[in-house]
Amino acid sequence: MLRRPTSITTLRAPFITRFAPSPNGDLHLGHALSAITGFELAARENGRFLLRIEDIDIQRTREEHVAHIVEDLRWLGLTWEEPVLRQSTRFDAYRKAFQSLLDRGLLYPCFATRSEVDAAVAIDPIGTDPDGAPLYPGLCKHLTPAEIERRRANGEPFCLRLDMDRALTVAHETSGGAPLTFREWNAEPGTPPAIVAADPARWGDAIIVRKDTPASYHLAVVIDDAMQGITHVVRGRDLYAATGLHRLLQVLLSLPEPVYHHHRLLLDAEGRKLSKTLRHTSLRAMRAAGATPAAIRTTLRNARI
Ligand code: GLU
Repeated sequence: MLRRPTSITTLRAPFITRFAPSPNGDLHLGHALSAITGFELAARENGRFLLRIEDIDIQRTREEHVAHIVEDLRWLGLTWEEPVLRQSTRFDAYRKAFQSLLDRGLLYPCFATRSEVDAAVAIDPIGTDPDGAPLYPGLCKHLTPAEIERRRANGEPFCLRLDMDRALTVAHETSGGAPLTFREWNAEPGTPPAIVAADPARWGDAIIVRKDTPASYHLAVVIDDAMQGITHVVRGRDLYAATGLHRLLQVLLSLPEPVYHHHRLLLDAEGRKLSKTLRHTSLRAMRAAGATPAAIRTTLRNARI
């Protein structure tokens, strides 16, 4: 008897995605869209769905928010693999990664306060990053080693910034001159992802390690997507421009390149992006007001694009 060929399932490329909320507030409809999109794609693609709690910001993290996230997602009918990864347990991995960037001269310490940066750009504006924040005007870029040592010894807090020009040069060399791109998938079955030019320079000398924690969102997200073997990053279009910077870090740190699916954003009636400050769209508030998971899904389907 002929043996059956290997099943389609085993031939299929692996699909591992994650929902990665920051526990600094309650989840809103926009988060529901992200979580449900990732969950449903993982189910459709015979893949895995993970939950990651992005709690590097120890000051703003509240255990109550973590508990609410789990409760809200369960209420929506989602399930995920245990254990849930918490980024607050990953500081050693982030330290190792930034040390390797530091050793190659790709990061430099910056002692400037936000008001010093604001004052400098008020005099000499150099533009804004994709989030609308002023580009860093280079205040601490050329400090001498002695000056850095003096300020560190003084206990002045500092963050670590990416030397963008140098990082682009090193990435260019590392990839043999190939242009930096990312793969954007429209999530249609069988459709290959589009190749998009990545433009990390738009972020200027971005903060890679914050003053108060040994990482930034950008560093932690690429390290953990790689460690968790994420093949498909499903998240909102608000993070589309950040993907350019994430690709640069992936090249610099020799991390694998996932496929990205940036889904549409939900806007409120005034056309504003939903946020944690718009309390009426929090899933808890909607549940308390009698919404059902089915009603949430209908709202998501009908919401403005
Ligand atoms: N933690 C991020 C947020 O809550 C999302 C990170 C991501 O999906 O890459 O906005």
